[in-house]
Amino acid sequence: MYTLDPSVSSPSLDALHAKPSLAVVGAGLAGLSAAWLLKDKYQVTLFEYHDSPGMGVFTSDYHSNGIETRIDMPLRIFTKGYYPQLFALYKYLNIEMESSDHAAAYQTWRPEDERPAVFFQYRNINVLGKGFRYLSRNSISGAGFKLVMGQFTFFKQAKKDMANPLHSLSHITFGTYLQQNNFNASFIHQLLLPALAVICTCDYDGILNYPADLILGYLTCGVMDDGIVRAKQGVDGIVPKITQGYDVLCGEQVMSVAPLDHDKNRIMLTSCNQATSVVKEYEFDHVVIATQADIAGQILSAAQHKEADVHAQQAKLLTSIPMQYSSMVLHTDTSIVHHQNQASPVSYIVDESLPRPSTSVDLTKAFSTYKDQQPVFQTWNVIKQPKASSIIAQQSFTRPLVTLESRVAVAKLQNLNAHSAIKICGSYMANKIPLLDAAVESSVEIAKQLGCTIPWHKTNCKPRDNLAHDSDSKALPA
Ligand SMILES: Cc1cc2nc3c(=O)[nH]c(=O)nc-3n(C[C@H](O)[C@H](O)[C@H](O)COP(=O)(O)OP(=O)(O)OC[C@H]3O[C@@H](n4cnc5c(N)ncnc54)[C@H](O)[C@@H]3O)c2cc1C
Repeated sequence: MYTLDPSVSSPSLDALHAKPSLAVVGAGLAGLSAAWLLKDKYQVTLFEYHDSPGMGVFTSDYHSNGIETRIDMPLRIFTKGYYPQLFALYKYLNIEMESSDHAAAYQTWRPEDERPAVFFQYRNINVLGKGFRYLSRNSISGAGFKLVMGQFTFFKQAKKDMANPLHSLSHITFGTYLQQNNFNASFIHQLLLPALAVICTCDYDGILNYPADLILGYLTCGVMDDGIVRAKQGVDGIVPKITQGYDVLCGEQVMSVAPLDHDKNRIMLTSCNQATSVVKEYEFDHVVIATQADIAGQILSAAQHKEADVHAQQAKLLTSIPMQYSSMVLHTDTSIVHHQNQASPVSYIVDESLPRPSTSVDLTKAFSTYKDQQPVFQTWNVIKQPKASSIIAQQSFTRPLVTLESRVAVAKLQNLNAHSAIKICGSYMANKIPLLDAAVESSVEIAKQLGCTIPWHKTNCKPRDNLAHDSDSKALPA
C-alpha cells in the first residue's frame, strides 16, 4: 500500500526559482536529451522509475582474461546516415565513438543438430581507411551469388523508388512494396527481413506492416556504407555528461500527471518512491512525458479528463502505438555459433517457421574494447537457451512499432504537443524508425516548442547537411 506524503512540494519553492518549472518523466535517451536541452530555460526535474537513469540500468560488469569491461544491454549501435541528431548531440557532449565490425553469418539450426549451420556469410575488410565486404569461402556458391544479386537488384530498385516523388511509398506498407516488386524471395526472407527484424526489434509481420518509406528510407540513407559505431564508454560515458544542470530523482514511479483543478496552468505530478512507497505530489508549469507509449497513456489516464480534453485525446491516441516484447541474454556460451574461430561478429539463426530470427553479437569480434577477452555474446530472441552457468544477465524490453495507422496517431500527438503543457516525447514520436535518433529528434522538437535553442543549431553546422548521406549501397545487411 502507498502512503501519501503530506509535505506536498510547496509552490513557494518553485516561486523561488526564476525559471518556470518543468518535469521530465522517464530517463531513456529521449527524456535525458529533453531534460538536457531544456535545463537552461527551465528548472528541470527528471523522474525515473529505475534506480539509475534509464539508459544505464541494464549495464553489466564483464571480467575475463584479467580485463574488466562494462557491457550495455542493448548495445545501442548507430550509423551516421540515419542518426544526424544523435551524432550532433554526442559530438556536442564530446562523447567518444568506437567503430564496430558488424559483418554477419546467416545460419539455420535444426533441433537434431548440436550447432547451427551457415548458409551465407560475409566479412569486412578495411583497405586504406575504406571498408569493403567480401563473401566468405563457405558462401562462394550459386546460392551465395543469387543472394548477392538479389540484394543488388533490391537496392537498385529501392533507391530509384525513393528518388521518385510520384511513388507514394508513405501510403503503402513494406509488405505491399515487396509484393509489388518481383524481388528475389531468398534474399528477402533469408537476409533482409531477419536484418530488419533486428533493427526494429520485432517480428517479420511487424516489418511487413511498417510504412514502406520508413524502411526504404533507412536502407537507402547510407547505412550500408557509413559503418556502425557506438559510444565507446557506452552509457557510462553518456549519462554523467547528459545529466548535468538539472535534478534527477531516481526510483520514482510517476503515476499521474494532470492540470490542477483550481489552476489549469499548473500541473500536478504524483509519484511513488519505489524504496519507501511514499507517494508525493509536485507542481510544475510544464511536464514532458518520455516513458514508453503505453505507460505515457496510463499516466495520463490515471487522472479524470473530460473526453474533449486535450489530455484525454493524448491518452487515447497513445493506445494506437503498437508495442512488441522481446528479450535479450548476455552470455558466454559459444555453442550458439557454427564455429567460434570462423564465426562472424553477428550471427543470425533464421528459421522461416519462427516469427523472428535469433541474433547474437560477439562483442569480442565486433568492438576493439573487448577484443582481448573471452567470447561474450548478446543474444536477442534466444531460441536455444545458453548454458545456465554462462549467463551474465538477461532482460526483457518493449519496443514501439510503426504502422500506417500509428503514424496518423503520432502526427496528431505531435500537433497536440504544440497546444498542451503536458508534452509527449519518445523515440516513437518521430516520423522514422523508433531508434536512438528518433528519441533525440523528438526531444529537439519539444525543446524548440518550449523556446529553447538547440546548441548544435546555433553554429553554422546544419546536422542533416553536414552528415549528408552517401546512398550508394555496396553492403550486405548487418
Ligand atoms: C533490444 C533492443 C535493442 C535496441 N538496439 C538499438 C540500437 O542498437 N540502436 C538504436 O538506435 N536503437 C536501439 N534500440 C531502440 C532504442 O533503445 C530506443 O529507441 C530508445 O531507447 C528509446 O528511448 P526512449 O527514451 O524513447 O524510451 P525508453 O528508453 O524506453 O525510456 C523510457 C524511460 O521511462 C522510464 N519510465 C517508465 N515508466 C515510468 C514511470 N511511471 N515513471 C518514471 N519513469 C518511467 C523507463 O524506466 C525508461 O528509463 C533497441 C531497443 C531494444 C528494445
